[in-house]
Amino acid sequence: MKHLYKVKNLKKTFGRGEGKTDVLKGIDFKIRKGEIVTILGPSGSGKSTLLHILGGLDTADDGTVFYKGRDITVMNKKERMLYRRNEVGFVFQFYNLLGDLTAKENIESCAYLSGDPMDLEEIMETLELSEHQNKFPRQLSGGQQQRVAFGRALVKKSGVLLCDEPTGALDYKRAKEILLLLERINRTYGTTLIIVTHNENIKDMAHHVIKLRDGVIAEDYKNRELKRAKDINW
Ligand code: ADP
Ligand code: MG
Repeated sequence: MKHLYKVKNLKKTFGRGEGKTDVLKGIDFKIRKGEIVTILGPSGSGKSTLLHILGGLDTADDGTVFYKGRDITVMNKKERMLYRRNEVGFVFQFYNLLGDLTAKENIESCAYLSGDPMDLEEIMETLELSEHQNKFPRQLSGGQQQRVAFGRALVKKSGVLLCDEPTGALDYKRAKEILLLLERINRTYGTTLIIVTHNENIKDMAHHVIKLRDGVIAEDYKNRELKRAKDINW
């Protein structure tokens, strides 16, 4: 499989008449399996919209999005739900955890989505959450809560993680922890990571950088050497 995603002439408009906004005006790019991709661009440039369409949370107005050779833009509701459930994991800026469940239960509650979930112990170790597994979200720091959110996305063994500003709500130190975690996930499981971010260090770490401006792709840098987190000048 050469490309995991092939996006062609993707268009999305919100509203109509006076309030009409052409957010994506014909976007083309390809993503390889196992890549770390960052999507950059000013606020309002359509980064979240693009990520939502890639993940089947929103639909396009025009164009195609091939995932493993299947066009997700022509899927019916049920097919799209299965795609969303089985193939992709989401991590958002504000964790979205269930407050009445512990860290471990939050992750466990997503395991049933897969016929073949990851081992919980292993996940807790990878995420360095073993000590915190019985705590509730309110007892965890922002960085720890975000690691639980990663666990929820990872446990179903989806091959792709779509992350929308995963360090946006975190200070420098916690953001660094998340960056190290992203690298570890990519290296350990070969997960394709598509990350919307303003974080310069995450950008440095990416194999592939896509920059949006005014509804089109302003820059698309591929095949970049992966800069290891340890080599980044913190
Ligand atoms: P970014 O993530 O790059 O900041 P977004 O994709 O969130 O940008 O939004 C791009 C533009 O589309 C913005 O002008 C935003 O107001 C508009 N927009 C996003 N979602 C909706 C929606 N559901 N309804 C109407 N307008 C929207
Ligand atoms: Mg956004």
